[in-house]
Amino acid sequence: MTKNEPEAAEPELSVVAPVHNEAENIAPLLNRLAAALEGCVSSFEVVFVDDGSTDATLQELRAANQRDPRVRALSLSRNFGKEIAIAAGLDHVKGAATVIMDADLQHPPETIRKFVELWRAGYKNVYGERVSHTSDSRLRQVLTQRFYRLFESLSDTDLPEGAGDFRLLDASAVRALRTMREHARFSKGLYAWIGFKSIGVPFEVEPRAHGATKYNYLRLTNFALDGLMSFSTLPLKVWSFIGLGTSIFALALATFYLVRTLLLGVDVPGYASLIVSVTFFAGIQLLSLGIVGEYIGRIFAEVKRRPLYLVEERIGVAPVAPDDQI
Ligand code: UDP
Ligand code: MG
Repeated sequence: MTKNEPEAAEPELSVVAPVHNEAENIAPLLNRLAAALEGCVSSFEVVFVDDGSTDATLQELRAANQRDPRVRALSLSRNFGKEIAIAAGLDHVKGAATVIMDADLQHPPETIRKFVELWRAGYKNVYGERVSHTSDSRLRQVLTQRFYRLFESLSDTDLPEGAGDFRLLDASAVRALRTMREHARFSKGLYAWIGFKSIGVPFEVEPRAHGATKYNYLRLTNFALDGLMSFSTLPLKVWSFIGLGTSIFALALATFYLVRTLLLGVDVPGYASLIVSVTFFAGIQLLSLGIVGEYIGRIFAEVKRRPLYLVEERIGVAPVAPDDQI
């Protein structure tokens, strides 16, 4: 433990909340959190990860730390995205258990009481299960559902229905997650991948307290691709089967034309079928090349072995992780 660590004792519960331009939400969140956790756990800390906010979030966090030293914060050097912000938070928590939650009050702090009960009963991976998505737009709800279906059919990792980032993890599960330094992070998949004794707790998603969602459809699509590609190689393998199928078909077609030519002579027409098959297969080849490219791009990003994130400012948090020595 280093000198700039205000509290020597390790708290029973740590709360990690990634924040990107959430200035108005910090004080209300802390009020509700403190009320919900008082009496439920013996001690707690809240570790905010400021993910490159451009509003007054950082000032709010400094003020909150002044008021209550149990509130700590890391400020990343730029916007790294929520998934990486969560990883940064998990690297720095000290609690015997850690809760991950959004800072926009969509995740009701009162649910944490149930998480803690189940954790004390021996569960190490207690996840919140959304019972309704009504705060999301209809299109987003439909697309989310489609994505989960697709993920299920492509990947060997089972994602529990409705489970997201809002969850409690035992310190052992947190240690397991810290070993996974991948850049294209799909946290929901990682939580499922590590296993541990898991259980779901249903909760109602509340409407966002202030501000707007940071996830537009483009960002959600990229996130979905990251998820699929880091948990499945089926999109790569499928081309071998398509290739085999088309080769067999082409061979059969060649035999057919050979026999027909031998029996009936040369037949010039066939321009249309030629063009159709040329463009069709050109399309398939570009598509398969593109998918291979997506994976290569991700391999490239990983082999560079850059740190997952860079910390610009620490508020009551000591450097701990190997990625955090700058
Ligand atoms: N967030 C973040 N970095 C980002 C985008 C979002 O740390 O680049 C945080 C955000 O401040 C919030 C949480 O992640 O605490 C969830 O984000 P948001 O509410 O925008 O997502 P949604 O609830 O729509 O999925
Ligand atoms: Mg939200």
